Amino acid sequence: MRIAIVDLNNFSRYPTLSVGQIAAILRQAGHEVTVISPFAVGVGSYRRVTRPHALGYYESVLRHATAVSGVQAVRALRRKLAAARSPARARAQAATLAEVQGVLDRGTDLLLISAYSMYREVCGAIAAEAARRGVPVVVGGPMFGMPEIAAHWLDLPGMSGVFAGEAEGHLLDLVDSVMGGGHAVPGLATPDRPDLVPAAPFADFDALPFPDYADFPWDRYPNRIVPMMTGRGCGWGVCTFCSDVRTSAGRTFRSRSFAHVRDEMAWQSRRHRTGIFTFLDLKLNSDLAVWHGLIDEAQSVVPGCEWTASVHVQTNGETGLGSEALKAARRAGLSRITTGLESAAQGVLNAMGRGTTAEALSRFVRHASEAGISVRMTSILGYPGETAEDVRLTARFLADHRPYIDRVVVNRLAIVGDTPLGQAIRRSPERYPQIGALAPNLETGLIDHENATFRSPGHLPAVLQMLHEVYRINRKPLKGASLTFEGVM
Ligand code: SF4
Repeated sequence: MRIAIVDLNNFSRYPTLSVGQIAAILRQAGHEVTVISPFAVGVGSYRRVTRPHALGYYESVLRHATAVSGVQAVRALRRKLAAARSPARARAQAATLAEVQGVLDRGTDLLLISAYSMYREVCGAIAAEAARRGVPVVVGGPMFGMPEIAAHWLDLPGMSGVFAGEAEGHLLDLVDSVMGGGHAVPGLATPDRPDLVPAAPFADFDALPFPDYADFPWDRYPNRIVPMMTGRGCGWGVCTFCSDVRTSAGRTFRSRSFAHVRDEMAWQSRRHRTGIFTFLDLKLNSDLAVWHGLIDEAQSVVPGCEWTASVHVQTNGETGLGSEALKAARRAGLSRITTGLESAAQGVLNAMGRGTTAEALSRFVRHASEAGISVRMTSILGYPGETAEDVRLTARFLADHRPYIDRVVVNRLAIVGDTPLGQAIRRSPERYPQIGALAPNLETGLIDHENATFRSPGHLPAVLQMLHEVYRINRKPLKGASLTFEGVM
């Protein structure tokens, strides 16, 4: 079978792991695979935080003020400007459509599309084009576990199926079904069988072929970074706002064996002539056997390798993040580490279910920085119940730890329907008087809402203080190997 995979989730710094995995499984089964990467034909992707320009503080203030403005028209204008810059906009995606047409012209039996919900418009154009030529189209992605989004996409003319769940265990069966069998496949909704039950979490990772990144535009990436994942889900999994552990690949924690991870590192390094890795695990210190395996062996597997990862600093149990372990991790090539601060106010951390304290985070960032690891943190503004004093505490934490932190990402609270927070707000709205006007948004997968937290007394001045501290940190120039990962994580 000639199968084309369209990677609408493409990222401009490294290949897409899920697409590489699907390509490898299909090729192993004898199919002829083409990967269409929009980045290869000039379509951009969403950017991660990098060093702001000299006026970056004022830009962040403007962004915040317009995002939380009580004036509807201001927020509408902001959304319009964001849509105009979005890589999902139709004009930016015209090049992708032309590429798909070329592949269809050359002869393709099946199109598989990997997409987030904001790419529905271009996906519709692709499905219509494929339908004109009688080529079936199946779309999959992390958001399709939400039945209302899956149904919205299945409505697109020409769409043969929407897949939800992890595809690895059902991919070959799915191809057989769509190409003629017509039988039911776990996780697959079709116009004839529209009810969608996401496929169960996959576990047999060590039986999979390694992801195949041969089709990606390596010459366009600033560095030759190989994405890796040692496990799916998160060993903590409790944070109330976290949608990552609700998506199809995030449900429950499952890990690969370290031997399989080690063999892949060696294989990808040889194949792509590189020693740079980004570990995409939600929490790389979930499985301590893998975490310590990397620390102990990464340099013997790929001498000189550099890598980046996300970890969670929980206060109960062993985290593998003590001072000596972090020094050893640096020697093993760990250059940049990301962790969630979210807030420095204990009440907010507790409400979020973070399982950590500001003191533990303080120790962690000091130890990581002293070990020579560049630290990146994420933060959330506007959690229900957050006060101006809570935001000032976070600003103070950032000021006190400026020497130890290199980048901070500020997010305003986003509510996803099936997270514990989203469910609680819908179940007991009276407990969340700050949150109102809930409206599910099928394009983003989020619940649009009004958040009065941002307009509570003293909140805005506290946010400005925090944004200033964030700016002062983010203006720091990076040094050494951590520069490799600027804008990557
Ligand atoms: S530690 Fe991170 S990935 Fe895990 S549940 Fe919390 S926010 Fe989600």
